[in-house]
Amino acid sequence: MVGGGVIGTMHAYLALKAGLEVIHVERDSIPSSASVRNFGLVWVSGREAGAELDLAIRARQLWGEIGSEASIGFRPNGSLTIAQTDSEFAVMQEAAAMDDAVLRGFRILHKREVQELEPLLGGNFIGGLQCTTDAAVEPNLLLSGLRNEMSKNARYEWRPDFDVVNFAHSDTGNHIVDANGEKLSADFLALCPGAAHAGFLSEYFQEAPIRKVFLQMGATAPIAEKLGHSIADADSMRYYPAFKNLSLDQLPPQSKLAKEHHMQLLLAPRFDGSFTIGDTHLYEEPFSHEIIEEPYEHLTNVISNIFGQKFKIAKRWSGIYSQSTSSDIYFRREVAPGAVIVTGAGGRGNTLSPAIAEETITSWAL
Ligand SMILES: Cc1cc2nc3c(=O)[nH]c(=O)nc-3n(C[C@H](O)[C@H](O)[C@H](O)COP(=O)(O)OP(=O)(O)OC[C@H]3O[C@@H](n4cnc5c(N)ncnc54)[C@H](O)[C@@H]3O)c2cc1C
Repeated sequence: MVGGGVIGTMHAYLALKAGLEVIHVERDSIPSSASVRNFGLVWVSGREAGAELDLAIRARQLWGEIGSEASIGFRPNGSLTIAQTDSEFAVMQEAAAMDDAVLRGFRILHKREVQELEPLLGGNFIGGLQCTTDAAVEPNLLLSGLRNEMSKNARYEWRPDFDVVNFAHSDTGNHIVDANGEKLSADFLALCPGAAHAGFLSEYFQEAPIRKVFLQMGATAPIAEKLGHSIADADSMRYYPAFKNLSLDQLPPQSKLAKEHHMQLLLAPRFDGSFTIGDTHLYEEPFSHEIIEEPYEHLTNVISNIFGQKFKIAKRWSGIYSQSTSSDIYFRREVAPGAVIVTGAGGRGNTLSPAIAEETITSWAL
């Protein structure tokens, strides 16, 4: 497996479970791309009805199993999407009446019911949409937790600092070569490079329906009180395809700043008492190296309004993910018998990762 992010690591995890001998290579000493920069959300609520939701539901099942095997901070904490206006609440009521609402675990809650679940939410809002199938992992535990679990098995080998610069296929299998000239060979090869669309795989990405997306993220300073659920604001309903057929035109106009930066509030509680918050979306390359401050002011205002208390941002960072721009849920390309590129799951890559990996392993007909 090439790539130490969540897609490559889930491939390694499920291939090992399927009985394969696995060599797992990563160019960095410690993976530091999208998979450690994200919210760690397993977000079923926003997935488009049909194939995407089916894949998310399967992934959620697998997360439950894997979360009980490996120390990755998995918890089925559910989410609350908060309505701050009557019209937002009305759209959430429509969501709770969708055909697949039960499958998603949707339930409409009035403010008092939200506060029974989460007393910390003491601000101005009307109610919320609960999603009981949403879950979360800790991004700073996930990859090492999965590797630690795999390392108990003699059939797993982790090779950091292995920067793949070439790939070839021959009668004897699939072969990769790293920057130091070391060669490894395997019957099956999953190339999971994330947003590294350049380099030795660039020929496969040149005309491909795929792009990169740049996001800004932050973390609040830890607090003593505990929050269970992950939180979203109603802007998230504009963004997630699950809600695309609802009366979104009835939502109040999005704030100028949130619109300009393609923002929503997502908030994931962390074990240390901080909240991971975001996000913005930038689609035009080349991306600037600069982190813009205004989106953080917007996010802290939204949170302060929902919680009824002020929060300070303690950390800021950015991340880039690879996103399929076709109707395909993610980018999968067989480049030789038994060798496949898997990336492009976009902002749902963490959520879908175990089910995506399962599709690859199944395709190898073991
Ligand atoms: C800010 C942010 C927030 C997000 N929030 C969520 C969320 O809450 N829920 C969700 O479902 N999704 C979320 N996503 C999306 C999700 O994080 C990504 O879809 C997912 O992490 C992609 O995983 P990956 O393994 O494909 O890529 P990456 O995590 O980028 O990993 C790819 C790895 O491959 C390695 N690599 C690349 N080229 C080579 C090479 N030549 N040789 C060796 N190794 C190589 C890289 O070093 C890297 O470690 C978010 C993304 C971002 C950026």
